[in-house]
Amino acid sequence: MPRTTRRRTTPAPLHYQVDVADPHAHLYRVTLTIAQPDAQQRVSLPVWIPGSYLVREFAKSLLGLQARQGGRALLIEQTDKCSWQIACDPGRALELSYTVYAFDNSVRTAWLDSQRGFFNGTSLCLRVEGQEDAPHELTLSPGNAPAGWQVATGLDALKVDRRGWGRYRAADYDELVDCPVELGAFWSGEFKAGGVPHRFVVAGAPPSFDGSRLLADAQRICETAIRFWHAEGRATGRTGKPPFSNYLFLLNASDDGYGGLEHRNSTALICGRRDLPRAESKPGEGYTTLLGLISHEYFHSWNVKRLRPAEFTHYDYTQENYTQLLWFFEGFTSYYDDLLLRRAGLIDDTVYLRLLNKSINQLQQTPGRLVQSVAQASYDAWVKYYRVDENTPNATVSYYGKGALVALCLDLSLRAEGRHSLDDVMRALWSRCQAGPMTQDDVLAALQALSGRSWTREIQRWVHGTGELPLRELLERHGVAIHEEAAQLAQRLGLRVGETGGAVQIKTVLRGGAAEQAGLAAGDEWLGVELGRGAARSGWRLARLDDLLLYAAGQTRVQALVARDRRLLTLELKLPQTVHTWRLSVQDGQKLKAWLGA
Ligand SMILES: [Zn+2]
Repeated sequence: MPRTTRRRTTPAPLHYQVDVADPHAHLYRVTLTIAQPDAQQRVSLPVWIPGSYLVREFAKSLLGLQARQGGRALLIEQTDKCSWQIACDPGRALELSYTVYAFDNSVRTAWLDSQRGFFNGTSLCLRVEGQEDAPHELTLSPGNAPAGWQVATGLDALKVDRRGWGRYRAADYDELVDCPVELGAFWSGEFKAGGVPHRFVVAGAPPSFDGSRLLADAQRICETAIRFWHAEGRATGRTGKPPFSNYLFLLNASDDGYGGLEHRNSTALICGRRDLPRAESKPGEGYTTLLGLISHEYFHSWNVKRLRPAEFTHYDYTQENYTQLLWFFEGFTSYYDDLLLRRAGLIDDTVYLRLLNKSINQLQQTPGRLVQSVAQASYDAWVKYYRVDENTPNATVSYYGKGALVALCLDLSLRAEGRHSLDDVMRALWSRCQAGPMTQDDVLAALQALSGRSWTREIQRWVHGTGELPLRELLERHGVAIHEEAAQLAQRLGLRVGETGGAVQIKTVLRGGAAEQAGLAAGDEWLGVELGRGAARSGWRLARLDDLLLYAAGQTRVQALVARDRRLLTLELKLPQTVHTWRLSVQDGQKLKAWLGA
């Protein structure tokens, strides 16, 4: 066909109208207008949200789908669990309407009640097949929202009122669903980092909340991360710019909660209200954890949202998206989240080592590290890491925890060998992969280019193997002393327990431990112990696990009385004496400074 006869016009934007329909029934109403539909138009809702590797079946909350064209109702054929097809006139606009039930108080789906609203596009916005790359517009309308509610989202505003209600635009479907929306009467503050405007929104903050402290600390984290990734700007005297023109933190403070999900220019976070900084008192450990979460999700703006597994070049919203690289994207992000807090001056060496200590002990107390490599853990995240059960510690290793320690081993090895560090590797990858898709070969090539040698052996062992990491040798070399201490009782016995209402419930029996040898099982209620012989024989009811030390001090074995399926069992339990954990401390401040201060 001659070029001049037909010219494809830019597709008209798809348009979603989201109304706060009924906060008490937790319902949003969505109206989707497709200006140029296909004759057989297919639409579908994602089954997962990028960043959280579990099929969550968001379609289960989509209700009452209807299709109309020019006022006429059309038949809808459902073609699978999350897809529908509508036969229509392709010359006229097709309008779909439905409601979405929103009552999951997490960062992954959607929420609506009289106190606040929150949603991800993956829960509310049907994907119009064939038009994913067209501009997507979103109009947010207060509907029946309580008076005074505002809007916060990372989407570009086209025409909105001073509270943020109105029309927004995304370049494509990926961007639309990568910009969560917060609705409500929230606290809001602003700062600049790297010359770019940042906004911090907090829902559910208590009256004691010290917003200026949170803003100042978040700003230091952001400046430190921007300097980390764009250090070339430092050398030339230019300030490096982050890869976004604005950034939004959405933090939901609840009675009890923790978590975050990264997005291209925003993040959704949950923390416990008690962990927020307060005007009247010094922040505690919970606040350090919150700063670590802020640091983690912000670092992801570079590491996984832009630099990303090659398998995530185009997300497939219809099924699992497998990659072996989460040890890099989650693990290395976990390594740098606390390290950047140290470099930002928000924690000192002692606190940093305490956090590192915790990660090391967690790994060493996970028998699954000898069963599964971090590359396998990444691939299997969909069926293992995100589906925790009583056997999880025996079957899997965390690609967050061990991945962070692989990063530590690479960083300390590079530093020990010469002038380079893992920081240089991260920046080399950013430029080598042009802030886009990456493979393990890229990691190996960047390591080799900087250090002049192959790192295949280390990656093979640490990432694809199940042997122990050389943590002791590397930490001691960099100024850290390692002390061995007797482990907690649960760890010595090879158990994880719950203690409520004066009863000890067995949650997990660790592989190869004393509890497993005795025949204890997850789900058992550990009622008590009997010890001694003859006239010296005594029996004791356990209210908490540590009571065992009270009654069985000096014993090498006891009879454990457990209830399982209403049967009472007496199990012979040996009490091991030789289980140790590590305690890290500062040995050489100068050596440590070269690493933690750089
Ligand atoms: Zn993460």
